[in-house]
Amino acid sequence: MAWGMASEACCYVYYPKDKNELMDIFELAKSSGMTVGFRGAGQSYGDASLNGEQILVDLSGWNSILDWDSENGIITVQSGVTIAQLWRRVVSSGWWPPVVPGTMNPTVGGCASMNIHGKNHWQVGSFGEHVIEFEALLPNGQTVRCSRSQSQDLYFGMLGSFGMLGCFLSITLKLKQIASGAVQVTALSAANLDDLLHIIDSHKAEDYVVGWVDCTVVGSSIGRGIVHTARHKELSNKNVLTDDISNNKHELPSAIFGILPAKYLWLFLRMLNHRMGYKIINTVRYYSGLLRNGHGFVQSLAQFNFLLDYIPNWKQVFWPGGLIQYQCFIPFRNAHTVFSKILQCCTDSKLQPYLGVVKRHRKDDFLISCNLDGFSLAMDFSVKDRNRARLSSLLAKLDEIVLDAGGRFYFAKDSTLKPEATRSFLGPKTISRLVELKVMCDPNKMLQSNLSRRILPELHGCQVDK
Ligand SMILES: Cc1cc2nc3c(=O)[nH]c(=O)nc-3n(C[C@H](O)[C@H](O)[C@H](O)COP(=O)(O)OP(=O)(O)OC[C@H]3O[C@@H](n4cnc5c(N)ncnc54)[C@H](O)[C@@H]3O)c2cc1C
Repeated sequence: MAWGMASEACCYVYYPKDKNELMDIFELAKSSGMTVGFRGAGQSYGDASLNGEQILVDLSGWNSILDWDSENGIITVQSGVTIAQLWRRVVSSGWWPPVVPGTMNPTVGGCASMNIHGKNHWQVGSFGEHVIEFEALLPNGQTVRCSRSQSQDLYFGMLGSFGMLGCFLSITLKLKQIASGAVQVTALSAANLDDLLHIIDSHKAEDYVVGWVDCTVVGSSIGRGIVHTARHKELSNKNVLTDDISNNKHELPSAIFGILPAKYLWLFLRMLNHRMGYKIINTVRYYSGLLRNGHGFVQSLAQFNFLLDYIPNWKQVFWPGGLIQYQCFIPFRNAHTVFSKILQCCTDSKLQPYLGVVKRHRKDDFLISCNLDGFSLAMDFSVKDRNRARLSSLLAKLDEIVLDAGGRFYFAKDSTLKPEATRSFLGPKTISRLVELKVMCDPNKMLQSNLSRRILPELHGCQVDK
């Protein structure tokens, strides 16, 4: 099942112990004419880690830390090591993964494959920018070692190309040095979209900045929300360093407000899974933020970064239909117009997202990338049988708005993108380059997934409808 539970597939799942067993799987696929997909921790919202009726290689067992240089903050891990394993190993030595997603569950291989971003994208770029080198097994039988100076084409091609060129075996990362395991957070309320984008942009030099948007209001308050900025705390007294960055202080609380057991909270939230419920939650959140406008507080890095892990199993709120996230990236100059249009379209179609998040981004040099100098808006929609068709036509309409504005999409979150939209934002030059690399690394077009067949059938030699 996809993480968002809105798509599922039956696959032949293999758990190779090592590179040799993976090679055997490639041979088996070749001789039987089957295709092979990879799965890390299955934390992509859509169908990226599914390969329906075909072979799916689960790499979560490749979870050893191979080398840790705590002096220089350089770590080499197998690709199935999770972000949780990574930060827990390094934090007490005064290091932190420079780019993390909103949950600590993904694997390093999955993060490299989607070239993920965090709440600090403007400042530090995407995950791939901190990969010193990686080793990968290609379906053509070759094992390659890639870095910015060695096999550059594959380095910039594989980081972000959603598992279509080869399998990451090990990845070496440069971590971020921290003086303390805490961040000083400031909450700033924004009365409307204009305000929100302005606050985010004017705080982009902070270590982290992220905006939450109330997607349930329109009119003059459209796009209102709360921005959180955070700065790594510096310690004047070095003696408290060891204590402050100890793991215990980092872990997320198991109770909310000190009394409510977090693991049962989804049951309560489930009662609010309807339009009126979203309105209530968002309104309460907005006004409570307004009351604390400008207030500062201290959080551990894990608490600040992995907000979505506070409530275990929260996605069960949306069972059985699941949830879809729609994240679009819009150039700076068009962001205000486009986000207003998008929020208005959602309201007009009576399909309001229950959650909206805005981040500031910068451009990068990876072959397959959603990143540009601008903002992204990520909106979470609850999927129900009765709204599935309407949701899909709403998202197709949003795709057009995004493309007209020179916007881009992110495959780790995507569930609905059509090939025309993918071609339009990637452009013919990028697609032909990806196809060239694919022919070189995977001549039998073995590596596929439900996502790749849906968004870019020509990658697998399928006829392209013009
Ligand atoms: C609650 C939540 C919050 C999130 N927040 C963010 C966020 O803030 N920013 C962000 O960028 N993303 C975010 N994500 C998305 C997530 O970080 C990505 O989807 C990530 O790729 C998931 O990693 P995974 O290990 O689960 O990979 P999977 O979902 O299992 O696979 C993702 C892709 O990686 C490929 N892959 C996996 N392992 C390998 C390997 N060893 N070699 C080659 N290919 C491989 C798969 O084929 C697939 O295409 C979030 C997801 C969730 C559920």
